[in-house]
Amino acid sequence: MSDFQPCPECESDSAERVKFTWWGGLLGPKLFTHVKCGECGTTYNGKTGKSNNVAIALYLIIPGVIAFVAAFLFVLKGQN
Ligand SMILES: [Zn+2]
Repeated sequence: MSDFQPCPECESDSAERVKFTWWGGLLGPKLFTHVKCGECGTTYNGKTGKSNNVAIALYLIIPGVIAFVAAFLFVLKGQN
């Protein structure tokens, strides 16, 4: 009945796509097939049926790392 994997917590089949999240805006949940269980509210990857927490962490950390490296290079350049 659902296009998505059952909920990893309660095995309910009533997941719905999450359109917007605090961590990924509009794009993040699309990238990771982020869905929310209609029964218990657990959010997970609708494609794999597993938690998206690792993907979310990377999604949050990677832009920070890139910004840090860019700032570091900028500082190095300024010293020459
Ligand atoms: Zn559930």
